[in-house]
Order: sequence, then C-alpha cells, then structure tokens
Amino acid sequence: MQIWEPEYECMPREEIEQLQLERLQATLNRVYKNVTCYRTRFKEMGIVPEDVRSLADLAKLPFTTKEDLRLNYPYGMFAVPLREVVRIHSSSGTTGKPTVVGYTKHDLKVWSSLVARFMTAAGVNSDDVVQIAFGYGLFTGAFGLHYGSEMIGASVIPMGAGNTEKQIMIMQDYRTTALVSTPSYAVTIAERMEKMGIDPKGLTLKVGLFGGEPWSEAMRREIEERLGITATDNYGLSEVIGPGVAGECQCKRGMHISEDHFIAEIIDPDTGAVLPPGSVGELVLTSLTKEAFPMVRYRTRDITSLDYEKCDCGRTMVRMKKTMGRSDDMLIIKGVNVYPSQIEDVLFAIEGCQPHYQLVVDRKGALDTLEIRIEVTENIFFDEMKKQKAFLDKVEKKIDSVLGVGAVVKLVEPNSIPRAEGKACRVIDNRKI
Ligand SMILES: [Zn+2]
Repeated sequence: MQIWEPEYECMPREEIEQLQLERLQATLNRVYKNVTCYRTRFKEMGIVPEDVRSLADLAKLPFTTKEDLRLNYPYGMFAVPLREVVRIHSSSGTTGKPTVVGYTKHDLKVWSSLVARFMTAAGVNSDDVVQIAFGYGLFTGAFGLHYGSEMIGASVIPMGAGNTEKQIMIMQDYRTTALVSTPSYAVTIAERMEKMGIDPKGLTLKVGLFGGEPWSEAMRREIEERLGITATDNYGLSEVIGPGVAGECQCKRGMHISEDHFIAEIIDPDTGAVLPPGSVGELVLTSLTKEAFPMVRYRTRDITSLDYEKCDCGRTMVRMKKTMGRSDDMLIIKGVNVYPSQIEDVLFAIEGCQPHYQLVVDRKGALDTLEIRIEVTENIFFDEMKKQKAFLDKVEKKIDSVLGVGAVVKLVEPNSIPRAEGKACRVIDNRKI
C-alpha cells in the first residue's frame, strides 16, 4: 500500500501533537492579528494567543460557527489581503447568503496534497484515469479532487455532473479506472449500465472515491457489488478546506484525518464540552496551516467519533467514523445542503402567507427527491385552478433558484399535515441511508 507523505502520515503521536501545538500557536497569532472577528471574541473572553500553551488549552477558545461566517460575509474572516487570494469558493448558506472561502497559492498546494493523500490511500496512482463526476463551480468537490489527481500524476477527465450515458461512454472509451462522484450518483450509473446492457465488470473501473453526502455501509456494499469496484469514503467541508480533511485507506475502517493540518475535537453538541476519546458527538475542526481562511474550533455539525487505535495501513493519523447525521436539522439532498428554514423562508416570502407545510425527502432509485406539501388556506386560491398552477410554478422556481435543488410542490387538504404539540411535523425523510 502506497502512502503519499509517509513522513507526516506515519508520524509518531507525540511528534504529531508537538507539531500541532506549534502550528496552532502560529495560527492563533495570525488570526488574532488579522481577523477582527477572532480578535474581538478573544478579547471579550480575556484570552491572548500566548495563553494557549498546550493542546488541552484549545478548549478555552470560543467556537466558530456557520453564523459567524454569514455575519462576516463575504471577506470578513479572511486573514490575508484579497491580492494574496488566488481562488474563491463558496457553499450554500442557511438563509440565502452563501459562505465565502478563499485560498492563497500555498493553501491550494496544501489542499491538493491533502487530496493526493486520501486518493493514494484509496489506491489511486499515476497510472490511473480519474473521471470526475462532481459539478465544477463554486462548490469545492470537483476542483479539490481535480488538482489532487493531477498532483498524483493521474490522468484527469473533468466530466462534471450529470449526463449519465455520456459518463458511461467516456468511462468505456477512455478506460476510466477511478470514479469521483456522490455515492448516490454511483448507483445511478450502475442502474443505467444495467439498463443499457453493459456489464460494469467488463470495464476498467477499479476504485470509487465518494463523498458529498452521508452514506451507509449497506450502500457501500451495493456500489461495490454492482460496479465491481472498491468504494471509499472521504470527508471535508468547504468552510474548513473542502475535500481532503479526511479519507479512508484500503482497510476501510474510518477516515484518517490529516492531523498535521487539522485538530479534531468531539464535543457534546448541547453543552459544548469536549468529550473523551471514542465518544460520539459533534466534530469540531481547527485548521493549522491555512493562510487565507484559518478556522479556529469550527463546529461542523457532523456527528461522528474518533478512533485512535493503530491502523493496519501504517498511518498513525486518527480515524473518524462515517458521519451519522447532523447535530441540527440540515438535510443533504442530491449532495446539496438544504435547511428546512430556507424552504420556510421561500414559502413565507411568497404572497406573505404562513402556510402549514411538510417536506418529504425520498430516494427514487438512487436519486434524492424532495416534495413540498403545502396545506390549502384561504390565501392560497384553492378554488381557482389557474391561480393554483401559477402559485405552484412560482414556488418551484423560487425553491430551485434559492436551493439549487428541484422540488415538486403539491397542495394538500386543510389539516392533513399532522401537528405535533401544535407545531407541524416539518420533515419526513424516507431515505434509507
Ligand atoms: Zn489506515
């Protein structure tokens, strides 16, 4: 098994921790000096960077949340002047505004090497042909995997998302060996191949690098059987760097976190207290080497646990389990983060009504579907078909433009949506993941 940067990935734990402490102190000095939000917060708590003398002292520092990024939109959390930023990405926001992240030249190099680490761990090397079926654009997924593959020296096919039959044709003709996509899209590809009468096992495909949405071991088995490949998981979020925070080795027993670049903590999402090793809780990440967009104790909202036991691959970096869900109510639909509150905002903005509504998320075949059920009220022209149709079209268009996810909007009978303690039950997630 190959290791991309064994001098770091196999570092003894004491050395990792020493390196983390040095890099943490440098990061804290940088944010204190350059980012008003951090300086103000630290001052309020009477903390200066010099107070952090051990890794345990990290727990004294305040958390950073998505809300902080939103309040400092767009560039308020940047630690370097814009002229040093060479790339900008963003992710969907909770209330319309996205969050914006930036990278210096050095950040991009680090990001690529972190992706190269987990791709190497999954078995990708310079002989591979990597087909990237993530959407290129503001999201970090496609570009992260793209530059990581190039750093390894693999041949990259920047396909982008969708167009399944063309994906399959290219996969056959260009002899793709590694597929990068969401796990659900991998199932879509498998289904389409079966319909087209193509035996995936007759192709050159050998490994899948899947991310962008939570998925289960059952889904892994399904993908591996149907496509005849090794399916691996990787983890990252744009606020922290994008893909490359962690990834699985071929032992497939958790994703190794690149601890020389990030400190991972597990906290109780309700109290914020740091939990002992092995506990299940919310993952909190601190970046250690980022120049443009450092993050101190970022609350990812992802629920997982950390495993410090030695891995058979030889890497010493801690492993995080597959994420089990979110500590808040966020839904991931077709790989896009969707908050019920965003949908509520759209509904409430239209015609100024406050309808009873319900979101039904399902998975048809391998694709996520979103249905929005709205109870008919007097405000919602229940007696005029034409007006009804116009209303539904308007909501669907607005939802699509705000969320980037298509939804089917349906009107339902008054009082047909169950109220739990006076409040409507907002989300039904029928997906089995
Ligand atoms: Zn391993």
